Amino acid sequence: MSESNQDQHYVIIGAGQAGAEVASSLRKRGFEGRITLIGEEQAPPYRRPPLSKAYFSGDATGDSLFVMKPEQLEKARIDFIGGVAVTAIDPAAHTVALADGRSIGYDRLALTTGGRPRPIPVAGADLDGVCLLRSIADVDAIRERCREGMHITIVGGGFIGLEVAASARKLGLDVTVVEALDRVLARVTAPVVSRFFERIHREAGVDLRTGIGVQAFEGDDGRVSRVTLGDGTHIDTDLVVVGIGLIPNTEIAEAAGLAVDNGIIVDECARTSDPDIVAAGDCANHPNRFAGGRTRLESVQNAMEQARVAAATMLGAEEVYEAVPWFWSDQYDCKLQMAGLSGGFDAIVLRGDPESESRFSAFYLREGRLIAADSVGRPQDFMFAKKLVTAGIAPDPEQLADPDVPLKEMLPA
Ligand SMILES: Cc1cc2nc3c(=O)[nH]c(=O)nc-3n(C[C@H](O)[C@H](O)[C@H](O)COP(=O)(O)OP(=O)(O)OC[C@H]3O[C@@H](n4cnc5c(N)ncnc54)[C@H](O)[C@@H]3O)c2cc1C
Repeated sequence: MSESNQDQHYVIIGAGQAGAEVASSLRKRGFEGRITLIGEEQAPPYRRPPLSKAYFSGDATGDSLFVMKPEQLEKARIDFIGGVAVTAIDPAAHTVALADGRSIGYDRLALTTGGRPRPIPVAGADLDGVCLLRSIADVDAIRERCREGMHITIVGGGFIGLEVAASARKLGLDVTVVEALDRVLARVTAPVVSRFFERIHREAGVDLRTGIGVQAFEGDDGRVSRVTLGDGTHIDTDLVVVGIGLIPNTEIAEAAGLAVDNGIIVDECARTSDPDIVAAGDCANHPNRFAGGRTRLESVQNAMEQARVAAATMLGAEEVYEAVPWFWSDQYDCKLQMAGLSGGFDAIVLRGDPESESRFSAFYLREGRLIAADSVGRPQDFMFAKKLVTAGIAPDPEQLADPDVPLKEMLPA
């Protein structure tokens, strides 16, 4: 690291998974200057995936969530300002304004502001007991209300909704899931995989309603007690969790004049339209060859790997973000692992039978090429699928379907 970097001040807005990774990557790469990590949440950076899984069900402690504890931040000489939002960026003056009135100067800036849960635009959404889920505080508030035998309605059959359903069943709650589309996980998996997840939830006692939306929440004394569905039917309920998607936190970027379109626009080096500002994670709309164009991903893989590229760019290195996307979800004793992006597939090949088995892989092909795979209980398939998708192979569908043919053998020499 050149001497001049010692006088530099790099500021990171958003102390989540991506923000923490930018900060620690800067140090790992030898940056000797000052690093300030600013987070709206009071807590030091933590992992969100357990919030709907082990932390919700009580199998993981709050302490196990932290990516970097205060002593680790201190050791890495990362100045953490928690519980304060950045309200404005002045790219010309190279300063950021904090909600507590402070102004901080920067030489390079990283935006890792993530997103917030999409609120549901129906009557009664503001009733007590209608909850959104993104933070530790959100889950603590939901958990405080959970009592065995009570009824919870989950709006949204995406990953968060289904994981909360599984965790709530584990806690002994009576669970209804309401999904407006005609199947769960419709945006991310093939119908055959959706059917598998619908089956395991129904077998676990979840009342799963697909193809119907929520019309209103109702309740007495300001507290939710009833959900009215699109067909006029009602569900009596004690608690509601809404999981219908994410809105990227782009307002301060947009107000600063940065290009924004479903996320902060960055190039393959995580650079925004301002050369001194990078962005990474859930808030960044980036070119991704696996998506066949621009996309915004909401995953730990993306947050971590794009953050590392963002740190490299801050230091003037030319690195490109081109990692294969991957994701996982835990529901009951099933682990789903996904490699690649399946959007636009035109054929699907199954290894194992999702209708009758609890372990299978679904391989997605487009014009003969493998573009993605969803594996349940087959971690080896997932491991090799990441490599095969990266290599862009055009596999023999019969071999792909045959569990006796090791995927390893399909890797290019
Ligand atoms: C319940 C749940 C379960 C999930 N499960 C999985 C999973 O199984 N697998 C997986 O791959 N991914 C999962 N994800 C997604 C994954 O957690 C996110 O993709 C990841 O956290 C994104 O990291 P990030 O740093 O971009 O954003 P975030 O983690 O959202 O962090 C952004 C931070 O920036 C802060 N911030 C925003 N604006 C400002 C501002 N103006 N000033 C200061 N601070 C600001 C926010 O308060 C937040 O703390 C899950 C997410 C949730 C919520």
